[in-house]
Amino acid sequence: MELPFSESYRIKMVETIRKSTREEREQWIKEAKYNLFNLKSDYVFIDLLTDSGTGAMSDKQWSELMLGDESYAGARSYYNMKNAIKNILGFDYFLPTHQGRAAENVLYSTIIKEGDVLPGNSHFDTTKGHIEFRKALAIDCTIDEAADTQLEIPFKGNMDPAKLEAVLKKYPKEKIPAVVLTVTNNTAGGQPVSMANIREVSAICKKYGVNLQIDSARFAENAYFIKTREKGYENKTIKEIVKEMFSYADIMTMSSKKDAIVNMGGFVAFKNEELWKKCQMFCIMNEGFITYGGMSGRDMNALAQGLDEGTEFDYLETRIKQVEYLGAKLDEYGIPYQRPAGGHAIFVDAKKILTHVPKEEFIAQTLGIELYLEAGIRGVEIGSILADRDPVTRENRYPKLELLRLAIPRRTYTNNHMDVIAAALKNVYDRRESINRGYVITKEFPIMRHFTVELEPAK
Ligand SMILES: *Cc1c(COP(=O)(O)O)cnc(C)c1O
Repeated sequence: MELPFSESYRIKMVETIRKSTREEREQWIKEAKYNLFNLKSDYVFIDLLTDSGTGAMSDKQWSELMLGDESYAGARSYYNMKNAIKNILGFDYFLPTHQGRAAENVLYSTIIKEGDVLPGNSHFDTTKGHIEFRKALAIDCTIDEAADTQLEIPFKGNMDPAKLEAVLKKYPKEKIPAVVLTVTNNTAGGQPVSMANIREVSAICKKYGVNLQIDSARFAENAYFIKTREKGYENKTIKEIVKEMFSYADIMTMSSKKDAIVNMGGFVAFKNEELWKKCQMFCIMNEGFITYGGMSGRDMNALAQGLDEGTEFDYLETRIKQVEYLGAKLDEYGIPYQRPAGGHAIFVDAKKILTHVPKEEFIAQTLGIELYLEAGIRGVEIGSILADRDPVTRENRYPKLELLRLAIPRRTYTNNHMDVIAAALKNVYDRRESINRGYVITKEFPIMRHFTVELEPAK
């Protein structure tokens, strides 16, 4: 008999989580103004809000914390991080930052001016926020296929080379500080980008003389998909694939809270020494001295160790098969989600489920609240609240997709938890016809409103 698949680790420490009653949850979500970000984590049973900084560190990472060098300048821990970035990712220069958006802030404060244009494949929300805050334009060049949730293609996160080239033709290169390629493509459903696409985008960037920035939060998951789906890479190691991916990039920004499996941290890395030097000023002003940026020595140590573990095949296989397992359960129940299952999350297709809720009442947010009420499971809206308003007209933008993202933290939950999630969603799915009203906004920030938005049930 063939042995079933199982995790490539065992558990050394546990953390208690508690169930609640539906009455309690009704009260709590109301007090939270129907914004899942406003809930106390104690009020959540299974937390799928994000896979960012919520993973479990390994015994080796915890050991590295003890070895951290907290010297202000030139710490050993900085050099550990530098070596990992050089050896695993191939970049000579970098600046540590407190997380991914801080890396964006340091980079974009240096390279973006008003009126600039940054084409990309579904820019991540903080990336777009940083671009639009500087009165520059984030142009989405994702392939059209990404918007069809039921279409199964291996690299649904790809950038459309024709769309990219059209943008590069239209604007002079002085107006294009970087092309932003996000791997995996988070906003389009955690979908990977193929090596062929990275190579082609890089060639186009070179042709037009613009920098290629890889927004790298889930680069290792992307490498796993290249290994398992792209011809010619089946016999390469994850580390070899990662090296090739980054060989095409000029800049990388990294949220280490994802594939470096730490709770906090990030960096921006460069091939070009001049650009690294230019960015140092904003690092010193906003983050910290260039050999620690926004990080403590122990955290840089854990990050270096995490980059190594995060680029091991066995770990990635365990992780991605767990996401697939949840996807297979949803298939069993007929619940539609962005196919195929992404690397870090399942994106449930809320528009196909809550067909009676008008888009003005935030379909994916409504599904997220229903799932929380059902079982204390917290997902997150990737829909029109997140899409925010048009920077010019200030009208709501209603994206093609209304998704409820169920992000799976790394090495944190078991497949029994996946079974609970699937069953809870099935219960909501079974009563979908009775859900016909959503929510309206009562308070919102001018930018990145989703974190703090306040809502009430539509009347
Ligand atoms: C998380 C993320 C960021 C921002 O990183 P933070 O650490 O949350 O600031 C940027 N890009 C992508 C693709 C991400 O997933």
